[in-house]
Amino acid sequence: MAKYKSGNKLLLVCPCDSGLDFLVCCSPFLSGLAPAPDARALMRSRYTAYTRDDQAYIQASWHPDTRPAIVSEQEPCQWLGLRVISHQQDGATATVEFIARYKVGGRAGRMHELSRFVCEDGHWYYVDGTFPD
Ligand SMILES: [Zn+2]
Repeated sequence: MAKYKSGNKLLLVCPCDSGLDFLVCCSPFLSGLAPAPDARALMRSRYTAYTRDDQAYIQASWHPDTRPAIVSEQEPCQWLGLRVISHQQDGATATVEFIARYKVGGRAGRMHELSRFVCEDGHWYYVDGTFPD
């Protein structure tokens, strides 16, 4: 996680590319202090969870109907950056299109995904995704 100094405090830039301090960005969602207010915020926080290998949050933010039993990565994956392309909400459903860059086994790659989300009881959940590329 990138670090920067503000006054005499050492802050951490959130991996989700918001440019915000982690503590006021995705941290409240990952720690369960607050629900993500919309699908875009949830998607960003899930990306941050992947960068931290926070399996509990990845599971919890995945809709029970589509959640895999175990979220495993074959090889350690280094997440390099996130760019949210679009966010469209229609009532209790939403889509978020994004590109995430990563490195696996020394090889760089990019994942372009159009993710679907649903809101139930005030909590947004990741449902599934398609790959436009
Ligand atoms: Zn964040």
